[in-house]
Amino acid sequence: MKKSLIILLSTAMLLGLSACGASSSQKLVMATNAAFPPYESVEGNEIIGIDPEIAKLIADDIGRELVIEDMAFDSIIAAVQSGKADIAMAGLTVTEDRKQNINFSDPYTEAAQVIVVKKDSPVASPDDLEGKTVGVQIGTTGDIYAGDIADATIERYSKYFEAINALNQDKIDAVIVDREPAKVFVSESDELKMIDKEFTLEEYAIGVAKENTELLDQINASLKKLQESGEIDKIINKYINAE
Ligand code: GLN
Repeated sequence: MKKSLIILLSTAMLLGLSACGASSSQKLVMATNAAFPPYESVEGNEIIGIDPEIAKLIADDIGRELVIEDMAFDSIIAAVQSGKADIAMAGLTVTEDRKQNINFSDPYTEAAQVIVVKKDSPVASPDDLEGKTVGVQIGTTGDIYAGDIADATIERYSKYFEAINALNQDKIDAVIVDREPAKVFVSESDELKMIDKEFTLEEYAIGVAKENTELLDQINASLKKLQESGEIDKIINKYINAE
């Protein structure tokens, strides 16, 4: 009597476990930092932008349900490594350093680091940043490149908009940030301008855990389809006005 109850219980537990395993494997959890328009930002209760829209198409294509987790930018790679998230999609630049920790999909778009300054600033190119105080978001490629500027003081913020606020208040001389977000930040202020000389050219791709090669292959296959059908371009053009 006791024994059969135990057997029944353990069968129920097994069933319960596998049921919950099955439903969680249907989800595709995307780690992002939704303060990076036009790639990702919060609108009402929703996270909108180029990355969530592309992720949704990929999730649909591979038969999984997209779930977006908003977190600090410098937690995103660890979230993917630990399995807390399946993919990193955050205007995430492919770098050799990051490749040590995660795999990247094929790139889905090109990007650049640029400089944002006050309209009356004498800074006109990356060389002019020598000896200046430069604001960056922690853990970004802008943070890395700022480290190469001779005699610069680097102020690291957990969010870009804090760096932009500091610039508006003349606490710092410049912000290094990706070009499209830079355009958005500049458009929201009368006092800022973007220097139209790129610091670096970069590529954005989707980050996946090293061991998750099956998912990486699925994502690359989806990306290829979506690129060929023109759907990726359609999403990008919806958010970024062609010049
Ligand atoms: N493209 C930059 C990087 O990968 C910034 C990305 C971001 O802040 N979301 O470091």
